[in-house]
Amino acid sequence: MTNWISKFVKPKIKSLFKKRSASKDKAALWINCQCKSLIYKDELFNNLSVCPKCNFHHKLTSQERFSIFFDNKEYTILETPVPRDNPLRFPNYEEKLKKAREKTKQPDALLIADGKLDGMRVTVGAQNFFYNGGAVGAASGEGFLHGIQHAINNKTPFIFFSASGGQKMQEGTIALMQMARTVLAVNEFKKHKLPYIVVMTNPTSGGVTASFASLGDAIIGEPKATICFAGARVVRDTMKEELPPGFQQSEFVKDHGGIDLVCERKNLRSKISTLLSILLKKKEGQQTISETSDVTTFDETLPKASKAI
Ligand SMILES: [Zn+2]
Repeated sequence: MTNWISKFVKPKIKSLFKKRSASKDKAALWINCQCKSLIYKDELFNNLSVCPKCNFHHKLTSQERFSIFFDNKEYTILETPVPRDNPLRFPNYEEKLKKAREKTKQPDALLIADGKLDGMRVTVGAQNFFYNGGAVGAASGEGFLHGIQHAINNKTPFIFFSASGGQKMQEGTIALMQMARTVLAVNEFKKHKLPYIVVMTNPTSGGVTASFASLGDAIIGEPKATICFAGARVVRDTMKEELPPGFQQSEFVKDHGGIDLVCERKNLRSKISTLLSILLKKKEGQQTISETSDVTTFDETLPKASKAI
């Protein structure tokens, strides 16, 4: 039966909803910065996702990071091993992974790419904080090791952009094991006289700070990035003390010896390029610790988390 509700009220309501979704699309083109200014997303990305008004360095996905870092935005993403999902059968974990993969179009939070920086071939890893907070589990561990192995095989420097809340609680001890595995991998890498540079981006914390991210030959922080092991609230409540201003920000961490320098995103390419040329020359002068073989395979040296599961 048609009446005035279906003839007049329903279309009116439908048009209201349509208008709302159109304004939602519009909102997706803009981003709210912490300085409360509204920035057009394209404009922000053209400025390397750094706010033109307050210089806040917004988070980047792994692919965005690669595209602003490599020469001519050219790079190849390496296929890294992806171990079995949810080895401990943690409730709702599969669903969480599925959503993260749909959202980021990445199989894991950590990606490895091969490309060039100022004409020099480099292997680069980047974590995507938008994928479950960049949390490290077996897949990220495998990805990191694969990247290091690739850099050794091809004799390239290894550059890593960290962005993570730490280890995955859903993978328990398997996630914690990745700390030891990645540290051993970096140790192995350094025997090959190749530079390893880490750029800690906002935020880098927990097991990532406590393992491979703190082992770079040079450790760079992006401005105002949070760099810590435990969060400020936990530290304050444990110490029962007021924390100094800027606590756990990259500038503070640099002043207290935690990292080597703070560098703006727009200068990262040139800064890393310079550092690489210095480190390569320095390392050429050093004696090789492992003269026995050019290439070490992790299969022989490291426990395989994926096999242990
Ligand atoms: Zn801003």
